[in-house]
Amino acid sequence: IKGTLFGGPPARATRFILNMENCVFCKIIKGEIPTEFLYQDEDIVAFRDINPSAPVHILIVPKKHIEKLQVVSDNEKSLLGQALLVAKKIAEGEKITQSGYKVCLNCGEGAGQIVPHLHFHLLGGWKEEGGCLC
Ligand code: 5GP
Ligand code: ZN
Repeated sequence: IKGTLFGGPPARATRFILNMENCVFCKIIKGEIPTEFLYQDEDIVAFRDINPSAPVHILIVPKKHIEKLQVVSDNEKSLLGQALLVAKKIAEGEKITQSGYKVCLNCGEGAGQIVPHLHFHLLGGWKEEGGCLC
């Protein structure tokens, strides 16, 4: 068999499972990579970005492995809304509500998404007005 495991591309379901097994955020969610959660509920976790782009840089991550916004189904409406509300609550806890913050979502590799597991970035805590360069 040349080039592929079974002589053809893996079935969609197989690819999905392989992705989940290799996914760094799934490993964090399962506790396989020790990470302090700032927030956690049945559907969502939040933790600090390992390589922060702002004084406050927190990732809000649905527990379900969904690769990117492009493949989110209409059924996930409440999950998306919930993630934004979690961002708002964490911002309050971090005391960046007044100074302002960004909630960003990189949608696909072409837009700079590195980890193929849907996540929102909460960025803030700049000391001066206009301190944000991103
Ligand atoms: P993306 O570019 O995919 O939107 O953002 C992925 C983010 O995940 C990056 O900002 C990166 O620093 C962060 N990240 C990647 N691996 C880890 C990790 O193992 N732990 C934490 N806390 N953050 C990570
Ligand atoms: Zn994942």
